[in-house]
Amino acid sequence: MIVVDDLLVEPKVLSTKFMCDVKKCKGACCTMPGGSGAPLSANELELIDSALELVKDQLLPEARALIEKKGAWEEEDGKYYTTCVDKKACVFVVYNKDGIAQCSIEKAWHAGHTDWRKPISCHLFPVRVADFGGPYLHYEEIEECEDGRALGEREELSLIESLQEPLIRAFGEQAYEKLKEAAEKRI
Ligand code: SF4
Repeated sequence: MIVVDDLLVEPKVLSTKFMCDVKKCKGACCTMPGGSGAPLSANELELIDSALELVKDQLLPEARALIEKKGAWEEEDGKYYTTCVDKKACVFVVYNKDGIAQCSIEKAWHAGHTDWRKPISCHLFPVRVADFGGPYLHYEEIEECEDGRALGEREELSLIESLQEPLIRAFGEQAYEKLKEAAEKRI
């Protein structure tokens, strides 16, 4: 574990090259089987409920039916997650004409219909933030991102640089600059 500007960081977060390749992975991180949905902080629950009102009509019928029954988020052991259809796709997933999974909330943000882009955990993926008495940034190295790692190698882009926007959103400009500096020394 490394300390960078008050953040605890797994070395792999700094040494990995990465650039999402959604044409290849088809947005797999939004539809992965077996797990819970996107982690949410308590202060994002209201935002999720408001976003739902905005995008409800665009969601898939199975997602709307599940939301009717269980809501758009659930709680497990004191933690919150978006609800998933059959423990796979997040209820907010829609598909574009190429079959790529997209976040309907982010689509609404791109269209200028909301100021809230999407949950910060989705924005930061494949970096996850655990609580270790302070934020602990670690890298979730999943098979589905293999093409993203290959593209990052080809483009020579670090994981930190590819996550510039969400890292600034979560921790501020100064922390991002320090993370970038630390990554440059390791790559
Ligand atoms: S994080 Fe991985 S699975 Fe998700 S869009 Fe990027 S490359 Fe694809």
